[in-house]
This record gives sequence, C-alpha cells and structure tokens, in this order.
Amino acid sequence: MADSHHEKVIIVGGGPAGYTAALYAARADLEPLVLEGPQPGGQLTMTTEVDNYPGFPEGVQGPELMELMKKQAERFGTRCIFEEVSKVDLSQRPFTLTAGSDTYTCDALIVASGASARWLGIESEAKYRGFGVSACATCDAFFFRDKEVFVVGGGDTAAEESLFLTKFASHVTLVHRRDELRASKILAERVQADEKVSLLWDSVVEEILGEDDPPHVTGVRIKNVKSGEVTDHPADGIFMAIGHTPNTAFLKGQIEVDDAGFITTAPHSTATSVAGVFACGDVMDPHYKQAITAAGTGCQAALDA
Ligand code: NAP
Repeated sequence: MADSHHEKVIIVGGGPAGYTAALYAARADLEPLVLEGPQPGGQLTMTTEVDNYPGFPEGVQGPELMELMKKQAERFGTRCIFEEVSKVDLSQRPFTLTAGSDTYTCDALIVASGASARWLGIESEAKYRGFGVSACATCDAFFFRDKEVFVVGGGDTAAEESLFLTKFASHVTLVHRRDELRASKILAERVQADEKVSLLWDSVVEEILGEDDPPHVTGVRIKNVKSGEVTDHPADGIFMAIGHTPNTAFLKGQIEVDDAGFITTAPHSTATSVAGVFACGDVMDPHYKQAITAAGTGCQAALDA
C-alpha cells in the first residue's frame, strides 16, 4: 500500500554530502530523513584506501569512512532509508517526493544525489558491460588477475584505477585522447613510472571486441586521432574512467541546472533556484569533487536549510 510521510527536512543521497548535511540538521533538531538512493554511501563505497580525508593519518577504507559518517549522523536522530526518489514536485510547499509507491512531503529539501560514472556511449560498451567492461576498477579488478586490461581516461580516476589494477592484471594500458594527462602531478608521475602500465596517447576507443557465448571481451579497437591509424589490441577487460555525470534526472524541469547538468547554486551558498531547496556535494560541484568538499557543502546546506 502507498504511504505518505511528512518531514521537516529530507535529504536525498547518502554520500559524504548527504550524511554531513544530516549530522548538522539532526543536531539542529530538524530530525532529518535521508533517502539514501541506489548506492548508500555513495561513490566512496566503490573505492578502497582514502588517503586524503583529514583526520585519518594512516588512511581509511572508503566504505568504512561512509559507515562512520552515517553512524555519526544517526547518533543525533537521523533516519536513513534505502529509497530511490523517482520524481519531485517543487512547485509548491510542502515539496513532494515520490519513491517507489511512497510519497514524502517536506518543508525543506537538501539534494545530495551525487554523480555517476560516464560511459563512452558506443554499442559494444553497453553489450559487454559486466562481461569485461566496467567503470569501477576497485569493484572489479579482482576478476582480472593475470589478465590484459585497458583503462580509458586521463584524469585522477584513470591514473588511480590503472595503479590499482596493476595489483591484479598482467598488464595495464592507459588510453588517453590527448598527449598529456589531466591527473595531478603525483599520480601522473606514478602511473608513468609503473613498469606494468603503458600509455597510448592521442588515442580513442572505437569498438570493444568480444564473443557472445558466453559473453566476454577479447579486445579493443583503438584509433590514433593524429595519424588516423586504427589497430586492434587483445584485451580481457576495459575500464572507463572518463568522469561523472550529476544525478539530476529525478529533478527534471523542476530546478535550474547548468549545461552539464550540475545544479546551480547562489554564490557562496547552497541555495538553488527554488526557495527551500538546497544542493550540496558532487551534484552541484563540477570542479572540486572531493569527499571533503562534498562534506563541507553538506554542512553548508544544513545550515542554509
Ligand atoms: P576528470 O578529471 O573529469 O577526467 C576525465 C578524463 O576522461 C579526462 O582526462 C578526459 O580527457 C577524459 N574523457 C572525458 N570524456 C571522454 C571521452 N568521451 N572519451 C575519452 N576520454 C574522455 O574525471 P576524474 O578523473 O573522474 O576526476 C574527477 C574529479 O575527482 C577530479 O577533480 C579529480 O581530481 C578528483 N579525483 C581525485 C582523486 C584523488 O585525489 N586521489 C582520485 C579520483 C578523482 P581530457 O583530459 O582530454 O578532458
């Protein structure tokens, strides 16, 4: 049976932004409800060691960090439930959210729905997703012990995933569309110095090659964008690390977003185009995208709310 619930504050998303917003809102007696979405804990649950979150001099495992944040928010009365919001009505207060067959209303809404991995968008990528094509080395590297793998991208994620894969794969080839990595200097140097990693510059993936019965990847077709040369390379796995897209589909038409889909907020604030709706974390941050900055804006969103 469909249920209806009214809340003072609802937080959509259970990542560093959502749990920090919940911690602050709970301590302000707002009794927040967190609708955690399809991936409770957010993107950090797909990483291993987090070395750049302050307060953990020896590093901390991503899933453990998220569990700690959640527990801390719950200690002050936050309730977290595993629900994915499919649509919202922000045209009047209270705001209305639909999740499954349930309806929620709230006086203030904090959107902390994060971002999802981007894909190349070619047919063979969708065909072999889960059968050798992945966007999470941390989740799937284990399946590629002593195998030949490729990573696509040139940012920190691509560098980090390549280095992580070297622990399992026989060899890692990093394919980047330009001749210079976007990754931070330390990671770029580390990946270029690793003897298990080779780099293919100025190159794009044209096709993922595979067989159907059972479905598995056998290779990757790569084009050099400068020479136009196309070559097939044997491969068992291919990991996409080409950035993320903000999770705003459920807000379609209800709130202002920029050209890339990130929620726009007022300068030095988490206020969105709708009074009473606040945004924090990766869903509104096309620039920094760190756990600590997400947590910081989560705090701001709760204070603003
Ligand atoms: P990113 O910095 O946006 O890099 C995406 C990479 O993918 C770029 O090199 C880009 O190429 C390439 N790319 C994008 N679309 C492509 C396409 N269609 N085909 C081929 N290549 C494509 O994303 P990210 O690496 O996920 O990092 C996101 C943020 O998280 C960054 O701020 C990063 O610093 C941060 N991060 C930090 C750490 C860490 O500090 N340990 C780890 C992971 C992520 P171009 O370079 O040509 O644009």
